[in-house]
Amino acid sequence: MAWYPGAQKRELQPESDAQERIRPTQLIIHSIAAPWTPGRIYEYWRDSTNLESHFGVGFNGAIAQFIGTETRADSNMYANRRSDGTGAVSVETASNLKHTDPWTPAQVATLVALGAWMHKHHGVPLRVCRSHTDPGFGIHRMYPQWSDGGTACPGDARARQFREVVFPGIVKAAGGKPPKPSKYAPFPGAAFFKTEPKSPLVTAMGKRLVAEGCGRYVSGPGPQWTDADRRSYAAWQRKRGFSGADADGWPGKTTWDALKVPMLRNSR
Ligand SMILES: [Zn+2]
Repeated sequence: MAWYPGAQKRELQPESDAQERIRPTQLIIHSIAAPWTPGRIYEYWRDSTNLESHFGVGFNGAIAQFIGTETRADSNMYANRRSDGTGAVSVETASNLKHTDPWTPAQVATLVALGAWMHKHHGVPLRVCRSHTDPGFGIHRMYPQWSDGGTACPGDARARQFREVVFPGIVKAAGGKPPKPSKYAPFPGAAFFKTEPKSPLVTAMGKRLVAEGCGRYVSGPGPQWTDADRRSYAAWQRKRGFSGADADGWPGKTTWDALKVPMLRNSR
């Protein structure tokens, strides 16, 4: 297991020895909705709950580590450990009781240094996670799979700081170049479409299908997923050489990536 040299080691037992190993591919940042020091966070994990994080950061930037980074910690649900053995490293940060306050400059500096170490030591790539399993850096509220169905952690002020200060700071501290933002929307997952979503992404997809000569719309395309979207997508799958069950109209990653649906302005 690995211990960050910049943190005070406060090993949490029995979790540190008892929990499974992970290969860390993500760093997920949280707000703990309490104005706690790293020592108080340690006591909370020890005495009150088993949903511990790997790290805790106080308002003054002090950081402690409770679990080795190659051992599972339990604060981010399905990102804790995946079936392929990868998992996320988690860091809780002191905040006000509603986690609406921004990180202090000292907290930002600590998060940047930790992120750079995660890149250098564990090879976490210098990008914001593009899906809930994608290696990179993220904040807890980005994906519902990282919590029990969704969370407001951290608040808006810190979400903005993550985008504008913390993540760019990590890239700089790690000696990397900021990645070019993708022009195309990432595949949202097969399950997304089975829910018959209403989303601007469905409109954007439909416009691309029409442009490819695969539109089977009577009206639209629009944001509500309908059978016309499915028929249009099936035409696209056949155009790409798929047939049978592989051309059933439910989007898959290969044909989605080939379709090059433009990134929505407000999407991650
Ligand atoms: Zn959280």
